[in-house]
Amino acid sequence: NRSILLVSRPEGMPKPENFKLTTAAVPEIGTGEVLIRTIYLSVDPYMRGRMRGVKTYVDPFELGEVLTGGVIGKVIESNHEDFQPGDIVEGRLNWADHSVSDGANIRKIDPDLAPISTGIGVVGMPGLTAYFGLLDIGKPKKGETVVVSGAAGAVGSTVGQIAKIKGCHVVGIAGTEEKCAYLKDELAFDHVINYKTDDIRKKLKEYCPDGVDVYFDNVGGHISDEVLWRINYQARIVVCGQISAYNLQSADKGPRIQGQLIQKSALMKGFIVGDYMDQHNEGYEQLGKWVSEGSIKYRENIIEGLENAPDAFIGLFRGDNLGKQLVRVSEE
Ligand code: NDP
Repeated sequence: NRSILLVSRPEGMPKPENFKLTTAAVPEIGTGEVLIRTIYLSVDPYMRGRMRGVKTYVDPFELGEVLTGGVIGKVIESNHEDFQPGDIVEGRLNWADHSVSDGANIRKIDPDLAPISTGIGVVGMPGLTAYFGLLDIGKPKKGETVVVSGAAGAVGSTVGQIAKIKGCHVVGIAGTEEKCAYLKDELAFDHVINYKTDDIRKKLKEYCPDGVDVYFDNVGGHISDEVLWRINYQARIVVCGQISAYNLQSADKGPRIQGQLIQKSALMKGFIVGDYMDQHNEGYEQLGKWVSEGSIKYRENIIEGLENAPDAFIGLFRGDNLGKQLVRVSEE
């Protein structure tokens, strides 16, 4: 049973030597437990925060311990009455070939509804993040302008498509021409800005002539500063992620925008997807319906092999992924 351990805390950008692959016997299960073979690992930016060793809304990763994250796997042995060998499950499990669960942290996935990988993607945690963040905090209305940063990623690409479903004018910000072309040509975003090559201020002015009503922020930093100068009266700013800051070793300094919030009577609110735990089933249902109807499309960037999971994680900060970043650990 191979596992990925965190062996040192990253300073700045994570490096391969922060992680180690170890091998041990496949664990045995006890009463009420199930043994799960990992099929896909979800590779998520929030894991960077857990590597700092500081308690936040989730416990930090301890040094020398196996990383945990979103996993899709198959039950291969069960002493639990609710799970049978062959069941496909999703849960927060080990970055390893196998995990043991007592059933409390896993849910069954119906493989007939959608490809099972979507259970950690568009019909999983990132999809729910987009759904609740945009609809509950952003409250987009028909005809309004919605700007989303990190637009070609798992969360951002779903946010933009839900905003289109709601009849909004949607502008996405992403880091490569390929990503921008995908958003515009395949996902029907109205406009896209490449933050690495475009003059963001000029493009926002051109693409948001009526100002910005909802800003869904996945990245923070200077990109968000530019968007915040264009918000409208009573704009809603959904603070979902700040990936541009996750590897910084000292606090980023930028314009103080509180004055802008006052002038525009704007709302800026952070959230975590866990805030909506008791409504998750509603989210799974609606996202599943949109995906099966084809009104939400998705892409996955799949890297093969557990041993390559650390590089897949580091790749999030290089912008390697278009869509949801996954690692395939074994065949379905
Ligand atoms: P993504 O699939 O969007 O992957 C990360 C992407 O971020 C990269 O592909 C890259 O795209 C972009 N990026 C990386 N570094 C920078 C940078 N310095 N400046 C701008 N963009 C950068 O990840 P997710 O969809 O899983 O997550 C998106 C955001 O949502 C993250 O900030 C994450 O922490 C947050 N999140 C929050 C949750 C919550 O409950 N609040 C839950 C889940 C996610 P590019 O090529 O465009 O630079």
